[in-house]
Amino acid sequence: MKKILLALLGAVLFNIQSVHAEGVLTVDALGDGIFALIGQTAGRTPENHGLNANYGVIDTPEGAILIDAGASTVAARVLDTEVRKLTGKPVKWVINTGAQDHRWLGNGHFAAQGAQIIALARTVATQTRLGKGQIEALQRELKTQMDGTEPHPSRQALADDRQTLTLGGRTLQLQYFADAHFPGDAVVWLPKERILISGDYIYVDRLLGILPESNATTWLDAFNQALALQPARIVPGHGRVCDAAQAQRESGDYLAFVVNGTRKLADDMAGVDVAVQTLNDAPAFSHLKNFSDLHRGNVNRAYLRMEAGN
Ligand SMILES: [Zn+2]
Repeated sequence: MKKILLALLGAVLFNIQSVHAEGVLTVDALGDGIFALIGQTAGRTPENHGLNANYGVIDTPEGAILIDAGASTVAARVLDTEVRKLTGKPVKWVINTGAQDHRWLGNGHFAAQGAQIIALARTVATQTRLGKGQIEALQRELKTQMDGTEPHPSRQALADDRQTLTLGGRTLQLQYFADAHFPGDAVVWLPKERILISGDYIYVDRLLGILPESNATTWLDAFNQALALQPARIVPGHGRVCDAAQAQRESGDYLAFVVNGTRKLADDMAGVDVAVQTLNDAPAFSHLKNFSDLHRGNVNRAYLRMEAGN
């Protein structure tokens, strides 16, 4: 009896989650069986299941490829439902582009269904270091939605920084350029379609966040290398599908502004307060969502790292 009740409860919860998915992710069909699932640019909330980032879906005759797995088992189920709706197939492969919570903590859900989890060794190293702490931090915001979520990094981490993968007859590259938002961030590049699924190397519509784990200097380098692929279209880590020019304006130019500005001020030993004050005015970027919440902290962290010489 208890089992039946639990199963019923599970079915009810699952239904509610599926309904929520409608408002949480916007689907963008890019052709050739490639889809972008665009999350909100707001913060992580119980309503959006922490799916405030973007995800990629690639249909193949053998099953679906999902790029990034969501921040919890609940979030992974929402993604799973969307993938089945779009492709009519289960997820056979999950590729992680990064080590931030919403890129990979849903891996366990897909692994339990037999999906292969694919990530670079660098990415897995950061996931392994941060996973437990990420779950604890998310429990404060997402509460019981984190129940049952355990870190599940790829068991077959890929040693080379550039991997060509053939999955279900589709060729894609999983490539690391440099540490960025998190150490070990990577992109998925579809060379034939010239589509870049950039993970957290690129943000549009909202301001990117320079976190304690971020390195703005190497991020700028990674950004430039990613754009050198000359993508026709970009599924950014956050924000709507864009072209290279928008990515340049809203991520590349901002990183250059912060890196060049803090470098000069650190060379002058201006001090962090003066740096934040001097670079506070950034009219080219102040229209981006989250600017007033993030910009000063971004400059602060970038300056301190520059001053420390790392
Ligand atoms: Zn992110």
